[in-house]
Amino acid sequence: MRPVTERDIRTSFINCSKGEANRLGLPKDLADLPWDDLDFLGWRDPGAPERAYLIAERDGPLVGIALRVTSGGSRGFTARSMCSLCLTTHTGGGVALMTARRTGEAGRQGNSVGQYLCTDLSCSLYTRGKKDTAGAGVIDESLTSEEKVARIRLNLRSFLNKVG
Ligand SMILES: [Zn+2]
Repeated sequence: MRPVTERDIRTSFINCSKGEANRLGLPKDLADLPWDDLDFLGWRDPGAPERAYLIAERDGPLVGIALRVTSGGSRGFTARSMCSLCLTTHTGGGVALMTARRTGEAGRQGNSVGQYLCTDLSCSLYTRGKKDTAGAGVIDESLTSEEKVARIRLNLRSFLNKVG
């Protein structure tokens, strides 16, 4: 994805208030992130660990999604879980259920969308083999790196469209 600025981030959110978007904690070293290897920018709020954020391009414009981290670790340290975006498996709480409030009327009525995601939101890097999973393996697949990137983008798009 293309590099984004703090302003880009704060104005991109579709499922939280402007106040929340203005207050949320940004990732460190924005300018130095490996943008060419990112399908989306995802991070945990440094000041509020139960909050996570995801920014992606949808047909050009940026779409930002605020997430609540609602679980992790309850299945035991050795249990394997799979991220629904990048299909990487982790042990030891490396995957968490994150929920996003839906936009518009659905969101006002309390509807949200839940997805199991890598807790560090580094899906793009796992997909490209740029980051190793600690204590877990990637499922042995015959897909090429390009095919995996295409798949994560498809899964990401479907998630964004479910939120709003
Ligand atoms: Zn993932």
